[in-house]
Formats: sequence, C-alpha cells, structure tokens
Amino acid sequence: MTPAALRAEGLTWAPRRGHPVLEDVSLDVTPGQVLGIVGPNGAGKSTLLRLLYRYLRPASGRVLVDGQDIWEMEAREVARSVAVVLQEQPSDFALTVREIVTLGRAPHRSGLARPGLRDERIVATALARLDLSRLADRRIGTLSGGERQRVMVARALAQEPRLLILDEPTNHLDIRHQLEVLALVRTLGLTVVTSLHDINLAADLADRVLVLARGRCLAQGVPAEVLTEDLIARAFHVRVQRQTLTPSGAAHLTFHL
Ligand code: ADP
Ligand code: MG
Repeated sequence: MTPAALRAEGLTWAPRRGHPVLEDVSLDVTPGQVLGIVGPNGAGKSTLLRLLYRYLRPASGRVLVDGQDIWEMEAREVARSVAVVLQEQPSDFALTVREIVTLGRAPHRSGLARPGLRDERIVATALARLDLSRLADRRIGTLSGGERQRVMVARALAQEPRLLILDEPTNHLDIRHQLEVLALVRTLGLTVVTSLHDINLAADLADRVLVLARGRCLAQGVPAEVLTEDLIARAFHVRVQRQTLTPSGAAHLTFHL
C-alpha cells in the first residue's frame, strides 16, 4: 500500500454563529511523512484535523488526498484511505477488544458481508503490533485508559489506511506507551498527521511541524528551524529555554511562566 499525499489549501472554518476558529491554513505532507500539529489549548488543532478527515466541511479552501478533493469523494472511499484516532474513547463498553479492532475493516467490506479470513489476519496483526493479543477477548470497558487508546490505534491500523490522523494520541498513555506508540507510528511508512501537546515529543517524532495559534498557522517546517524559543514563546505565552543535549545534539525545550 502506498502512503497518500495530503494537501490543504486555505482552510477556513467557523461555527454557524461566531468567529472563525480556523483561518487560511495550508499544509503539504508528502507520502510517508509525519506532520506534527502543535499549539496551545483552543488553538484549533482538533478543528484542523476534523477538516482533514472530512468530518467538517471547510467554509473555504479544500483538502486534497493524492490530488483529489475529499468532498468530491464518497465518505466510504475516504474511510478506505484515511483512519483517525481521536482523544475521545469508545462508549460501547460491551464490545471486546477484537470486535472493536474488527470495526476497522468495515470500509473494506461490501454490504453486510461478515469479516473473512483475510480480515481476521489483519486484525490479529494489528492486535499484535499494539501488544494487545493477550487482551483480545476482554471487554473494552474493563481496560485502562491507556490500553483503550492502544485499541483505537490498532483499529486504525486494521483499516489499512494510507493516511493516519491522530488527535493527541499520547494523552492517556504513560511514558513507556507514549514512546511505543510514537515509535510505531514512525515505522508504519504511512503519511501521518498528529496533534501533540508535548512540543519536545513533536520535535522528536515529526518530520515537519505546524504551529497553530488562535486558528492561524504561525510557522511550519522542520522542527529544528520552526520550534525556536521566540516562536514558542509567542504561540504559548511562556518563557522558553532551549538546551542542546550532548552528545546527541538534540535540542530540548523547557518552559517557564
Ligand atoms: P484545540 O484542539 O487546539 O484545543 P479546538 O479545535 O478544539 O482547539 O477548538 C478551537 C476553538 O474553536 C475553541 O475555542 C473551541 O471552543 C472552538 N470550537 C471548536 N469547535 C466548535 C464548534 N463546533 N462550535 C463552536 N466553537 C467551536
Ligand atoms: Mg484538541
């Protein structure tokens, strides 16, 4: 499966009554790249992602997956290419882990067809990659928040998407599982767009980052060039100190009021 190219041009969105939440945001992600979206609470990160996975329709601008406007595609066609992992957790606590992950196969099946052997194999692989094989027959309601989050990532992988969109995927995870999920995301070879509230994690994970503040794009590009002390200070209204950690040479940001 080839990863998708994603492009957004001049995206603007506003609620029915009220000011724009997102204004004139453009981005370009080449196949296989990881784009990190960072910005303070309320900056418009989730709204931008909702526009990218065709949940919200832009007031102006468009979203192109491999050059095709997603609003000129059928919802099901988009669902075959684009998978989403949201912050919200599933509410259907009676389903088992395996049943939830199998839902990821739905866009690939025709009509009311039941999951086949191929679907079962893909689900088993996704469960194994997220270290969930042991929990496959547990009801989702009995899992911890972090385990549930890994189930949602497994469901997204079972969808075999070409573009993966994640909204703060590390929120419910402890440090070890944060690193595991992010490392996994890196190895998928998929095109990935993820919002992350941890700027240092974004810098480590992403090929490119986009900094949002008050619905506008302040900067985008490679993390080392974009995530300057000055820009972060402006976006987040904090004081920032950038340290270079030897011997790796990686930069680390610390924040102060
Ligand atoms: P972030 O994910 O960066 O925290 P959001 O995209 O969730 O930000 O929200 C950005 C702003 O837009 C917030 O002020 C939020 O209250 C507002 N907003 C988001 N969705 C809606 C909506 N459907 N109706 C009205 N306001 C909204
Ligand atoms: Mg959000």
